[in-house]
Amino acid sequence: MIVVMKPDHTQEELRDLLGRIEKMGLRTHLSKGERRTIIGVIGERELIQEIPFTSFPGVEAAHPILQPYKLVSREFKEENTRIRIGRQVEVGGEAVPIIAGPCAVEGRQVLDEIADALHAMGIPMLRGGAFKPRTSPYSFQGLGELALKYMSDVRERTGMPIVTEVMDPRDLLLVYKYADVLQIGTRNMQNFRLLTEVGQVDKPVILKRGMSATIKEFLMSAEYIVSHGNDKVILCERGIRTFESETRNTLDLSAVPLLKKLTHLPVVVDPSHALGRTDLIPAMACAAVAAGADGLMLEVHVRPQEALSDGAQSLTPQAMEELLERLEPVARAVGRRILRTNGGSQRHHSKAVGDSD
Ligand code: PEP
Ligand code: MN
Repeated sequence: MIVVMKPDHTQEELRDLLGRIEKMGLRTHLSKGERRTIIGVIGERELIQEIPFTSFPGVEAAHPILQPYKLVSREFKEENTRIRIGRQVEVGGEAVPIIAGPCAVEGRQVLDEIADALHAMGIPMLRGGAFKPRTSPYSFQGLGELALKYMSDVRERTGMPIVTEVMDPRDLLLVYKYADVLQIGTRNMQNFRLLTEVGQVDKPVILKRGMSATIKEFLMSAEYIVSHGNDKVILCERGIRTFESETRNTLDLSAVPLLKKLTHLPVVVDPSHALGRTDLIPAMACAAVAAGADGLMLEVHVRPQEALSDGAQSLTPQAMEELLERLEPVARAVGRRILRTNGGSQRHHSKAVGDSD
């Protein structure tokens, strides 16, 4: 149920109502928007129906939320959620940030080379796996904490926030210590214990769509995280399994406008894992921005042929730079801009969030 408070409600009215709802054993989720205060009431339908919400002073209206996901739905919150990451990045606003970096952190030197190249072109965020979910137990599994240390050294040097995957609740404290954004991979989208755990921390989470998950299942997984208290969730479309085998997955771009309609959470697109090959990435990255994506995640490696994982889908820094040039007019055409930070040597970069004129 969503309870909408009157614009002139008092704090006491709000407190009384919250107290009454919680006394029934129901959970509340308060959202104070620019214009309105809204209470999400979660729990058993029968119990919720017992409360005469509109008879309480200060209440304007009460509507049941029809979808199974509540807190992440547009019905619950009309305006887009904007998530700040570090000083210079915001996801969900007008500017479209790019998260780029290697599939896995393979060593200090190679990571530094990649990160420096990205930083020089004004890419605002660095990705890199420390714990890798590999299909084969014999493949490179990631460098673990060492990789996290290398990444945090890059952040020290460049100011780039770091995005890295947490695969297991047992690793959460460790990953939390270093990461700015916690990534939940496609294979873990329905690891409900993990979702519950990241729901209890205060760092943003990028939740990747399960490769066989419906949009509804995807949103229910986001609901897990938000319902446990962490509303900084960024959804990531990264391709789904279909019968097609020319591409690694099928990039479901209709998910972008659909998700934007159903949820207030930001939506980013990862064309690298969707396509599995570099030649199609520029077209689909542009298409993602045109479709309304709030960000892109891209794999970049200085020597893709030597990459320990996902080399075939990793752009070189030069290809990344060419892609940036292609993306800019596309973003402008849909009323957005590509977020580039001032770390870069190129002077025509757009300003980062929070920079003053
Ligand atoms: C990744 O981004 O490193 C990754 C493993 O992606 P996905 O979970 O989408 O396969
Ligand atoms: Mn990868």
